[in-house]
Amino acid sequence: MNPYNAPLAEMRFLLEKVFDAPQTWSEMPAMAESVDMDTAAAILDEADKISRELIHPINRSGDEQGVRHEADKVITPDGYKAVYDQYAEGGWVGLCGDPEFGGMGMPKMLGVLVDEMAYSACNAFTLYGSLTAGAALAIHAHGSDEIKEQYLPMMYSGQWAGAMDMTEPQAGSDLRNIRTKAVPNGDGSYKISGSKIFITGGDHDLTENVIHLVLAKLPNTSGISLFLVPKIKVNSDNSLGEANGVTVGSIEHKMGLKGSATCVMNFDDAEGYLIGKPNRGLVCMFTMMNYERLAIGIQGLGTSQAAYQMAADYAKERVQGVAAGGSPTGASSDPILVHGDVRRMLLTIRSLTEAGRALSVYTGQQLDLAKYSQDADLKAKASRYMGLLTPVSKAFLSDRGLDAAIMAQQVFGGHGYIRETGIEQLVRDTRIAQIYEGTNGIQAIDFLGRKVTGDNVATLSEFIAEQQANVNGFTHVSDADKTKVLGLLEQLLTVAKQVNENKLTQPALINACAVDYLDAFGYSLYGCFWLAMCDAAHDHEDDNFKQQKAHLSRFYFDKLITKADYHLSQVSKGDACIMQMDASLF
Ligand SMILES: Cc1cc2nc3c(=O)[nH]c(=O)nc-3n(C[C@H](O)[C@H](O)[C@H](O)COP(=O)(O)OP(=O)(O)OC[C@H]3O[C@@H](n4cnc5c(N)ncnc54)[C@H](O)[C@@H]3O)c2cc1C
Repeated sequence: MNPYNAPLAEMRFLLEKVFDAPQTWSEMPAMAESVDMDTAAAILDEADKISRELIHPINRSGDEQGVRHEADKVITPDGYKAVYDQYAEGGWVGLCGDPEFGGMGMPKMLGVLVDEMAYSACNAFTLYGSLTAGAALAIHAHGSDEIKEQYLPMMYSGQWAGAMDMTEPQAGSDLRNIRTKAVPNGDGSYKISGSKIFITGGDHDLTENVIHLVLAKLPNTSGISLFLVPKIKVNSDNSLGEANGVTVGSIEHKMGLKGSATCVMNFDDAEGYLIGKPNRGLVCMFTMMNYERLAIGIQGLGTSQAAYQMAADYAKERVQGVAAGGSPTGASSDPILVHGDVRRMLLTIRSLTEAGRALSVYTGQQLDLAKYSQDADLKAKASRYMGLLTPVSKAFLSDRGLDAAIMAQQVFGGHGYIRETGIEQLVRDTRIAQIYEGTNGIQAIDFLGRKVTGDNVATLSEFIAEQQANVNGFTHVSDADKTKVLGLLEQLLTVAKQVNENKLTQPALINACAVDYLDAFGYSLYGCFWLAMCDAAHDHEDDNFKQQKAHLSRFYFDKLITKADYHLSQVSKGDACIMQMDASLF
């Protein structure tokens, strides 16, 4: 199996040269003293090492062995516990957590890159820490001081894990239908009863406790509230008490992610504590969901990077056919890398992965600004941009992740369909990223229906004006590429305004056209990022790095960016041909 090597030079380049992280950090008191480029580079080096040496080695064996449900316990594959202990001891679960509660206080701009490495190394393992960090974020944002003090240090340290308990058999995309009940005990706590399905990390043997964030309904309300429900009750001195009526009904047997425990969880009068206000549970849970949505986009990105590395290595080794125009070495067969179609696939994966990484770092930067900036206007703007970018990061990165895995599998030919090469695992593991955390269809509807047209296109207009200014400011890129991107940005705005004007008279328009609009936005934004990367790379000290950027951006602008035109044209075609066929004809 190929070892995973993180693209460290690329990651440092994005932080330092493209998004000027040192400047962003120096302007935020919470970051100024704790992180600079040297610290960030050292953390990236260490994350590369643990991803390669610690996490990647359990990727394949975890897939083969899978999780087991035995006597009311869920057992993770061999090696997971030992790796998790080291991962937690290294402080990686609490990397971006609040130092007041034991977190390391690192910026999300850096955190997204660490997450990407871990997902590249092993999708299934990385979910455990990700769910814990997301649950901790929601507790930090909405929990009482007492709850924060009791739970956050144990979660940041990785001693206790987190889980997100929303889905029920009759309530998936539409959470209004949940039936789990919460009845007040009269002492500030609640009795939680009900069943949840598909709960990632709902139970496992990696940690001594699992902290469930559960959506439930209070008596006589249709509103949804959020409750913290520990698997094992916690005493006031933080020692573990008795079991809390939280049991595993079963585990799911899945297409991929075999090392990740996906559980049916039963709550039988389990003791829970309200997080946030009654009936405001979805708002509070959105803190965790938005975190996980970005994380799942990064799952797709990490998969793309791993897929690229495996396919590029294979293309250099596998010998079949002769190069068009004759073998460059005079051999009777050449490595498949000589063939135009194989190169097309590798360049597609890589140019989308590098732009995707830029999207992930940019989104991380907006998160940091929204959280830590002292400038009220900048903070509010970053928060608006986060709203806009979260569904895009989740859906566009995870869609491209599956595309990348499948294309890389194609590079392997028949060997890609055989388990030994390992590439088919990436296809199976990343497929779910398009589905969970809200399907990508739901993300697109959120994007076009709420984020783009919900404020009559105000935030999108602001965002696009900023991108246009950035593009106009680039001086080391081709004018033709700039013109192409500027034209697309203008069209994105025009089409969004058309949808906004027509949404009342054509009620199905947004739902039917949202995926195309999100894709058009994604490919256009990647155009902005390719210009930004080329502009920043023009004086890079490494000539190979500069050349790679020039070739990859040329490929992107010649071959891929026109996908944005296609998707915009689909939105303009409207919903009639989708909605007119009678249901009886399906
Ligand atoms: C491996 C795995 C892990 C998971 N982990 C968790 C977890 O940790 N916690 C948790 O709470 N849940 C978890 N889930 C559940 C997951 O988030 C849901 O499966 C997902 O949100 C979709 O819900 P559903 O399966 O009920 O599909 P449905 O909601 O039934 O959707 C079916 C199809 O209809 C479409 N659709 C539905 N409504 C609309 C609409 N209004 N407009 C347009 N299209 C629509 C969907 O996009 C989809 O294509 C997990 C699921 C899996 C498989």
